[in-house]
Amino acid sequence: MKPYELTITQALAKMKQGDLSAVELTESCLERIDAVEKEVTAFITIDRDGALLQAENADRQRKAGRAGTLCGVPLSVKDLLCTAGLRTTCGSKMLANFIPPYDATVVEKLKSAGAVIIGKTTMDEFAMGSTSESCAFGVPENPWKKGYVAGGSSGGSAVSVAALECLGSLGSDTGGSIRQPASLCGIVGMKPTYGRVSRYGLTAFASSLDQVGPLCRTVEDCARLMDVISGYDQMDSTSVQRDVPPYLSSLADGLEGLTVGVPREYFTEGLDGEVKRIIDDSIEVLKKKGAAIVDVSLPHTQYCVAVYYLIAPSEASSNLARYDGVLYGYRDMEADTLVDMYKQTRSKGFGAEVKRRILIGTYALSSGYYDAYYKKASQVRTLILDDFKKAFEVCDVLISPVTPTPAWKKGENTEDPLAIYMSDILTLSANLAGIPGMSVPGGFTADGLPVGVQLQGGHFQEETLLKTAFNLEQGLALEHRKPAL
Ligand code: GLN
Repeated sequence: MKPYELTITQALAKMKQGDLSAVELTESCLERIDAVEKEVTAFITIDRDGALLQAENADRQRKAGRAGTLCGVPLSVKDLLCTAGLRTTCGSKMLANFIPPYDATVVEKLKSAGAVIIGKTTMDEFAMGSTSESCAFGVPENPWKKGYVAGGSSGGSAVSVAALECLGSLGSDTGGSIRQPASLCGIVGMKPTYGRVSRYGLTAFASSLDQVGPLCRTVEDCARLMDVISGYDQMDSTSVQRDVPPYLSSLADGLEGLTVGVPREYFTEGLDGEVKRIIDDSIEVLKKKGAAIVDVSLPHTQYCVAVYYLIAPSEASSNLARYDGVLYGYRDMEADTLVDMYKQTRSKGFGAEVKRRILIGTYALSSGYYDAYYKKASQVRTLILDDFKKAFEVCDVLISPVTPTPAWKKGENTEDPLAIYMSDILTLSANLAGIPGMSVPGGFTADGLPVGVQLQGGHFQEETLLKTAFNLEQGLALEHRKPAL
């Protein structure tokens, strides 16, 4: 087994025993990147020299007996998270040359734990999308099937982990952007509860929905990253002051006494037959492991796409107002007047999808329309939250598909944004309600495409989700399958 094939857990064990150094592991990942990156386009920026320096430092720390919990582990980071001294583009021409002066809190936490940041990953521009095809610096490829989307918006993060270029990654999830690419690329991804993880240094898309979370090859690795990144941060007023349970040590608990709800509305028309079969098989596994299965209803699910696609663009139109050619990034130098400079900067700096969102959001917030759109959407959002509250009175975890279909061909639907928005129907509600959600590999289609299983839980129930996911992973035993690159 090559070092780059190891899980975080395995690599840490080898480094602890002295069988592998952080430099050897990092070099192995860089060699893997050299071998496959051309095929998969997971990275916008690869920080070879920085990574090797961090690895040397990690080896020194370990020798000195000061190894952090991720000492020497090479990870990638979505290019929406600020990294001090390392270009952070958000997948946009607008920020093509932006070098942040500081680290996002989560990046700082990874570094303090000894992790090696190997590079910044491809993503949909400003995290708006479900395929990563709107990235201004290259589109990631699904490592399981050439010509297929990796999902989005954290597509590059998912691909970097699935293609074995690094051992784990951080992404962001506003409406599914961690869970969906994790599902389409056959890895584990977690969107934590709103407020569980600091967003200081995460470029804002929709502030009432955004969360940072891990993408890894196993549930155990995911718990390790959650242990490091979770917790209150005084730099983020939306982070919650609440104890963080030890995620890693709660994995091995069994499922006796656990009730798993199957939300009826997530299994309706449009659901692919193979996806359905894989979810049904996973339900059987959980049953065998001791969980009770109940039928539940989330009656307002049908409104989540409309609600999300009003609220998220509204917040985006406000958050993206800062890109005016004055404070940040790209500036059009040909304009003669100030107003013209604003117009040209934003016309040339933003891509089509970002402009579409700004238009929708500005419209929904404008006087005369605010009550009909933004306010109404906010009211229905409360109904969606109430659905979950009721469901969690009778069950602990909800099981469902992550997306109605497996990965689709690149270029399909790019002319039809509504079709893409509809594919988000099973992930958006968790963000609207602020609850945690995960995607765990569930199986493969006859075509060899991976399909994830979604687990959702009540607020701050990450522990329960991870425990359920761990049991499912053990029961399915799929970890030997790797994409042939
Ligand atoms: N696909 C959704 C959107 O385009 C979610 C994106 C995300 O979670 N960042 O808005």
